[in-house]
Formats: sequence, structure tokens, C-alpha cells
Amino acid sequence: MTARVLDGRALAADLRRDLADRVARLATTSAGRTPRLAIFRNGGSPAAAMYAAGLERVAKGIGLETSTVEEPTAALLGRVAEANRDPTVAGIVVAYPLEDPEGAQRVIELIVPDKDVDGATPTNAGRLLRGEPAFVPATALAVIALIEAHGVRVAGRRAVIVGRSAVVGRPVASLLLARDATVVICHRATPDLAVETRRAELLVAAAGVAGLITRDMLDPSAIVIDCGINTAGDGVIRGDVDPAVADVVAAMTPVPGGVGPVTPMMVLRQTVESAERLAGATGRS
Ligand code: ADP
Repeated sequence: MTARVLDGRALAADLRRDLADRVARLATTSAGRTPRLAIFRNGGSPAAAMYAAGLERVAKGIGLETSTVEEPTAALLGRVAEANRDPTVAGIVVAYPLEDPEGAQRVIELIVPDKDVDGATPTNAGRLLRGEPAFVPATALAVIALIEAHGVRVAGRRAVIVGRSAVVGRPVASLLLARDATVVICHRATPDLAVETRRAELLVAAAGVAGLITRDMLDPSAIVIDCGINTAGDGVIRGDVDPAVADVVAAMTPVPGGVGPVTPMMVLRQTVESAERLAGATGRS
């Protein structure tokens, strides 16, 4: 591997220390309450169960309180409404997928945007698209955190994003645009992916297809951020980028150990920001 390694585990450890300090400071403010992250889920998805459990663990690790509510959608709606009003709840997260897509949409649209710490609501998506301050989907923020922590220049550079999902591709595009990149978004209907990726100075892979990006598709100067977490029958986690790419590009995130460990830290960072804002508002009243 000749590429510089954009290490997500080390960055996550730094973020964890900083956030733990901020939570400790919050506990000593006049409000004095430990802020809470509320997680909502239902249905039998192992991915959702893992996401919820992982978030609980890292949230507790920085001193936040957590609660996970697992109920049918109709009941979840009531519980989200309660969390919206509860001053001890700083952040609200829905672990996808819920048991029914329509129900999921209703639950998400009910979350008050100021506590929407995974950037799931249409309000925050709209703010992000307009270039306004917003809570942002955590994976997209993790991409930016990795780029910035490693001093990678974005302004004026050609960024190519593979994937246009609401949780990764689109928000990453908005964040890079806000940082003055020239942004190209590729998707299933892109006729020749390699033509686009070869021109990438910064490549963000978020297609959910193991090994989609191969070494012949990249320029040696490319900086590669791999958001893929693909699990096959063998239980091995593979990225969207072929690991052999690391032999030919300038810098690359590993999988696992790149975007993955930084993502939950971004939910926590936005939860702490929300808690700081709530504490400030309490202090003024
Ligand atoms: P993720 O959660 O990783 O963003 P999704 O399944 O929600 O994954 O979205 C996958 C995205 O990747 C879609 O926008 C789709 O158009 C894009 N995509 C999937 N396969 C390819 C491919 N072979 N070439 C280009 N884009 C692809």
C-alpha cells in the first residue's frame, strides 16, 4: 500500500476525547442535566439493531445518557412527540430501516429539526441544500471530517461522488459544494463511470457495491474516501473501492477503519451541539 492512510479510528478517538470534555462541561452548567440521545426503532432489521446498539455504546462512552425505544410505528409517533418536548433530550435518531417505509417517513417528519442530530428531516436536508447551517446525515459529515482532519484541500478541486442517496451521496455533494469544490455526482444511469472517476481529484464512493471502483478507474493523484460497508455471506466487510487501489492513489480511507468509526462520532457531535444550545437557552431564561 503506497497511498497515505486516512485513518478513521485515530480521528474517532480524538473526537471522542473532545466530546467527552464538552459533555463533562455541560454537566457543570447551571442546567446541570446530563443530555440524552433518544434512539427510536422497530422491525427486525439486524442493521438497525446494530446501529442503535453501537450508538448507545459510544454515546455512553462520552457521558451522554441514552434511551432506545422499540415500539410499533403508531406508538413511536407518540414517543417522538414526547422527545421533541422533553428538555433533557438533546438528540433524536431513528435507526433505519423501520418496519414500514411509510411509517418511517411519518416518524422522521415529526422530529423537531433542532434535535434532528442525524440530519434526517426534510427541513435539515433543505437547509443543507441551500447552504444554510443544518444538521447533516452522519456519514456525509464523517467524509468531511476525514478530509479536513488530514488537511486535504477541497476548494477549487474536482470532486466525483459515486452514489446519490439521501443519506450519503447528496449531502456529501452539498457539503463539498459549500467548500468550493467542483462537484460531479454519478449514479446507476451514468453511462461510463470510469470516464468520470478518472477525472476525480477527490473521489467519494457511496454506491453500496463491493469493489466497484478499481485501480484502472483512478488517477494517481486521487484522494479516495470509501463509504461502503458491504457484507457478503462470508461476514467480511468490503468497501466500494477495491483495496488494490491503495497501490496507485495518493491517499485512501481503509475499510474497515475509515469512514465507519467516524460516523457515530458525528451523531454525537451534533447531539453535543444541540445540548450546548439547549443549555445556553436555559441559561438565558
Ligand atoms: P448508500 O447508502 O451507500 O448511499 P444506496 O443503495 O442508498 O447506498 O444508494 C446507492 C447509490 O449508488 C444510488 O444512488 C445508485 O445510483 C448508485 N449506484 C449503485 N450502483 C452503481 C453503479 N454500478 N455505478 C454507479 N452508481 C451506482
